[in-house]
Amino acid sequence: MSAKPKSRDEFAEYGALRYTRPVAGIVYGPNASRRLGNSLGVNLLGDGQKVCSFDCPYCDLGRTEMRLNRIKSDAPFPSLEAIDGALREGFRAAHQSVPKVDHIAVSGNGEPTLHPLFGDAVDLIVRARDAHLPGTPIVVFTNGASLDSRRVADALNKVDERFLKFDAGNDRVFKAINAPLARSSVSKILAGVRPLKDVVVQSFFVRGAVDNTQAPDIDDWMEVIGLIKPKAVHIHGMSRVPASNGLERCDEDTLYTIASRLERRTQIKSLVFP
Ligand code: SF4
Repeated sequence: MSAKPKSRDEFAEYGALRYTRPVAGIVYGPNASRRLGNSLGVNLLGDGQKVCSFDCPYCDLGRTEMRLNRIKSDAPFPSLEAIDGALREGFRAAHQSVPKVDHIAVSGNGEPTLHPLFGDAVDLIVRARDAHLPGTPIVVFTNGASLDSRRVADALNKVDERFLKFDAGNDRVFKAINAPLARSSVSKILAGVRPLKDVVVQSFFVRGAVDNTQAPDIDDWMEVIGLIKPKAVHIHGMSRVPASNGLERCDEDTLYTIASRLERRTQIKSLVFP
């Protein structure tokens, strides 16, 4: 296909990108993950619809249709009873999995910390892990927008790893690349990171209709990463079909250049996932 893609389906063909569909169920997989090996997923956000506080144009789950003020009433959050039952059953079954489960990833159909009883859900996940998959690290993926809640931060500190999205070092790029649904800012998320034990930062870089790879913006991003002092940085290109049209994949050389500039400036090494 030579013309620029106009839909997500066309983009999959044009960009040779993988297509993600929202997951069904509370426990899913295990699936092979580039970073986490054989990864067992936990989805606290209900079936079939994305629930998130951001609307990142590169999101592989499509656009965020549900507004924040409708989430409490409209999102199909599973009850704690349903979560508990699914975890016991799913983790018990996964215990037999070959190859064995390397990580439990709390991610699913959007931003997991939006579950209104996220802290209780984390307690259930830790308990089920200890009973059925002892020693398996639990990773929560978060966009950081709920970190102003002490209860969310406390819950995140109970798991083994926190993967925090950070794609921008200034508010102009933050608004373009993450499109937060509520008023938010780089400094607000930075303040929310402080109570966390540690984080792995994951940063996506794209070009085209939205571009976060320009030199001054990379300088700002590096400054923020230096302040966070993450235990690791994962630099991603777009490998899946994005929510919005007009985006372009960032070439591998650019991603590796960003990684080496970051290391020179902050001595923080990163892994690149083109
Ligand atoms: S934070 Fe994650 S789930 Fe939410 S819109 Fe961005 S990429 Fe998608």
